[in-house]
Amino acid sequence: MTERMVIVGGGQAGGWAAKTLREQGFTGEICVVADEPWDFYERPPLSKGALLEAAPALPRLFSPETVAALGITWYRPQRAEAIIAGEKTLILSSGQRLAYDKLLLATGGRARLPGSDWQRHPAVYTLRTWEDARRLKEQLACSQRLAVVGGGWIGLEIAASARKQGLEVTVFESQSLLCQRSVNPTVSRALLEIHQQNGVTVHCQAGALSLDDDQGKPVIISGQQRAVFDAVVVGIGVELNLELARQAGLEIDCGIVVDSFGRTSNGDIFAAGDVARHPTLGIAVQSWSFAQNQSVVAARAMLGDLSRGYDDAPWLWSDQYHHNIQILGIPDPDGTTLVRKTDGSALYFTLTPQGRLSQLVAFNDPRTVKLARRWMATGRDLSGVPLTDPEFSLMTLR
Ligand SMILES: Cc1cc2nc3c(=O)[nH]c(=O)nc-3n(C[C@H](O)[C@H](O)[C@H](O)COP(=O)(O)OP(=O)(O)OC[C@H]3O[C@@H](n4cnc5c(N)ncnc54)[C@H](O)[C@@H]3O)c2cc1C
Repeated sequence: MTERMVIVGGGQAGGWAAKTLREQGFTGEICVVADEPWDFYERPPLSKGALLEAAPALPRLFSPETVAALGITWYRPQRAEAIIAGEKTLILSSGQRLAYDKLLLATGGRARLPGSDWQRHPAVYTLRTWEDARRLKEQLACSQRLAVVGGGWIGLEIAASARKQGLEVTVFESQSLLCQRSVNPTVSRALLEIHQQNGVTVHCQAGALSLDDDQGKPVIISGQQRAVFDAVVVGIGVELNLELARQAGLEIDCGIVVDSFGRTSNGDIFAAGDVARHPTLGIAVQSWSFAQNQSVVAARAMLGDLSRGYDDAPWLWSDQYHHNIQILGIPDPDGTTLVRKTDGSALYFTLTPQGRLSQLVAFNDPRTVKLARRWMATGRDLSGVPLTDPEFSLMTLR
């Protein structure tokens, strides 16, 4: 009997898993259950090119020919509603039952909102899907004043894209620093400076915000202050789509708990991408590279190939104004941050007390990020190295 692999989620992790299954020679059936109507696409351009280009196209993960060659049986737009784990069967929103030999959950996440009243206001937006990007782009084109709620990566990218289009932008961040969860305070301050230099008004420690309405326009209330905007975009993080995993009784802790092969606590169910917890760090990592590379490993494991586990350091990038920012690793709270600035680029190295690199944040210097990956992988001791000296060539540390 031919085997059937079922993937829930038509995003980046789902796409790479389907492609990997075929590349590894799987000839059985690949079913993809996806609640969006599009072929697999990437989300990073949604806060960048999709808002800025005159006529942006769906940022496809693969060409239409590549997708066709995968020979996928699509169930879309449809939702997977439940897993009957004992019968290895998925129940779809149409009521259809879909049996699987192996199941991959690649359900990603959805944008969080402060409250249901925010959801109801027609000029309040979130940005997670292609449809969201199209709606937001239309709104930006007829707006002058934009509020961005949330000073994380997506909020800051939207702020930068809106400034490039000449909007007045105000960012409200509840914490005292921007991107506080993912970088150390020195980097947060650099981000603040960049946005202020580009004319964004940033309110950190904005506290709990409320929403009001003034003749159809959204009003943000922060403490005693009221401000009227043409539109509000909320970027306060992601709610992982964990319902199926929860209902199937899978172990969950900061995401679906998986081993380095993407295996969950149920031997026939795998998880990949945003919804899966990083196997060795035990944290949720929402990034393009994790969604791609961890899902490739999980797809191979679905076919029984356990030759290479996933243990990459987290890596993500962000484009804001003319800055390409790359973030490798996570900052050690007890670490020391060393700053190296040269013309047009800046590097923020966070070293552990033992002199190992725990995080590098690189502004406009992708070459050093490549090098730093090797330092991290080999646990290179960097204590005593004159990292901050712009005259010292980092390439000598190759
Ligand atoms: C605006 C934006 C900008 C970003 N920019 C960057 C960046 O610059 N750099 C970077 O590294 N990362 C970036 N990211 C993060 C990156 O895009 C995500 O980490 C990545 O998309 C995760 O892929 P995924 O396949 O796990 O989840 P998703 O891409 O969310 O795909 C999951 C899919 O599953 C569907 N689904 C969920 N539940 C069900 C169900 N029950 N039945 C059927 N379908 C279901 C969802 O609707 C969705 O289509 C960005 C994300 C966003 C939203």
